[in-house]
Amino acid sequence: MSCFICSTCYSTFPLDEKRWRCECGSCLDIDFEVDFDKRKIKSRKQNMWRYREALPLENMDNLVSFEEGFTPLIREHVNDHIVYLKLDYLFPSGSFKDRGASVLVSKVKELGIKKIVEDSSGNAGAAIANYCARAGIECDVYVPASSSYGKLDQIFSSGATLFPIKGNREDTAIAALEAAQDNYYASHSWNPFFFQGTKTFSFEVYEQLRWGVPDTLILPVGNGTLLLGAYIGFKDLLKLGLVERLPKIIAVQTKGCAPLYTAFKEKLLYIPHVTRKETVAEGIAIAEPVRGMQILNAVKDCGGFFISVSEPEIKSALKMMCRSGYYIEPTAAATIAGVLKYLDQNKMDELIVSVLTGSGLKTNDKVQQLVLFD
Ligand SMILES: *Cc1c(COP(=O)(O)O)cnc(C)c1O
Ligand SMILES: [Zn+2]
Repeated sequence: MSCFICSTCYSTFPLDEKRWRCECGSCLDIDFEVDFDKRKIKSRKQNMWRYREALPLENMDNLVSFEEGFTPLIREHVNDHIVYLKLDYLFPSGSFKDRGASVLVSKVKELGIKKIVEDSSGNAGAAIANYCARAGIECDVYVPASSSYGKLDQIFSSGATLFPIKGNREDTAIAALEAAQDNYYASHSWNPFFFQGTKTFSFEVYEQLRWGVPDTLILPVGNGTLLLGAYIGFKDLLKLGLVERLPKIIAVQTKGCAPLYTAFKEKLLYIPHVTRKETVAEGIAIAEPVRGMQILNAVKDCGGFFISVSEPEIKSALKMMCRSGYYIEPTAAATIAGVLKYLDQNKMDELIVSVLTGSGLKTNDKVQQLVLFD
């Protein structure tokens, strides 16, 4: 049976309801029958919709897509180790958020919704705005006024209505929640359809490793849209009997804002309040992740752990990546700082996969400051 299922009280709701959270206030997940036919998949175009039977869309006529996905998985030397990097900064909107946006906005179209509200530190808002533009859906995006100009410009240029909010990321979320009283909340952190899209990350890695599972997956985590998506993706493959184990997920946070790292380290059963410090990793500076407990449980379930990285570490990782020809944004470099730290502390022979999440082109000013004027 296909349904929404509450992550806390296990209430279920039909998938055609215009709902983004449970009556009890908790976030929802999606339960449906996933199919993964390798022969069919291989006969299709190389984009994320080749896994369509594993995505919760009723009718492919509702698809909102730029034929995105199937990003390269590059074999790279990082400090004398081989690490496979998934180039998710090559999506149409410049970040992996297109994975979630394509599925979520397709569902919005399927539900016949004409206007949505979203809030974001930038990249998710840009992705949702671009896909809404493609579908002709009206879109209000709430962003912290302090986000990178490139991201704000991108949202605005797509025809979305931009609401820059003074204050921090949480103030922005509050303003969006208010607006969502009257409109569908296409939130990338709340809405479970978004996470069904990001799970294609794992399907692609699985296929690109010739139907193999990495030992270790090193991912950034703020709201956990990529991390939880990747986890759900490998869980799907495990349930289908296609793989025998999950990869160990190493989750990277910035020291400037590390509530999940702190919860894990101190073995807390809640997400602690943290004060956010200045960080160049704006995309993962999430003080109150909506799905915090889910993220903690996912990382524990696959035998992984958390790493936190400092501003100098992010900066030198960014410089190293730029010098290797990868023009990424500082948030994406935080993941690579995590990879470097992991390699330093773990000298074993593992198949490691990591990701470059966002393009540097939207954050020119910051990259310039960090790399050139050093
Ligand atoms: C959104 C984003 C992240 C982190 O994703 P979460 O869903 O918040 O965990 C990392 N890097 C970039 C470039 C992003 O846009
Ligand atoms: Zn509930």
